[in-house]
Amino acid sequence: MTDTRNRFTRAELEHFRAIIQEMREGFLQDLAALNESVHSPSGGGVADHSQGVGASFVERSFGAVAQEQNAAMISRQTKILRALDGALNRIDQGEYGYCVLCGELIDKERLQIVPHTQQCMGCKVGRTPGSARVTHHQPA
Ligand SMILES: [Zn+2]
Repeated sequence: MTDTRNRFTRAELEHFRAIIQEMREGFLQDLAALNESVHSPSGGGVADHSQGVGASFVERSFGAVAQEQNAAMISRQTKILRALDGALNRIDQGEYGYCVLCGELIDKERLQIVPHTQQCMGCKVGRTPGSARVTHHQPA
């Protein structure tokens, strides 16, 4: 009987760690840029020449909307960043890649795309834990 070892190899874990760290860098850069645009008084600050005289109410409120969107993006990205940090922690502790709901190892393909996820596809779509592994390939 071939051992179905339900864990990632060290090489695989290092592979995921590299993906996560790269994503993390990207998010940190995005966040820095977003923070800058939110905190700059002109709200975007690229076209400053029209400031003062030409800035209509519409233009100013458009800037406010943009700032709000940026703020929403910041909180979303901060959340993902925290999740990425958590994933790095789990790699260190050898707990990475397991579904928090059913305890099964999450598909590698899924982790390549969302390396910080803590739910397998079966649980994500709301299938009852356990039944997920019986048929992975359903007739289309
Ligand atoms: Zn699961």
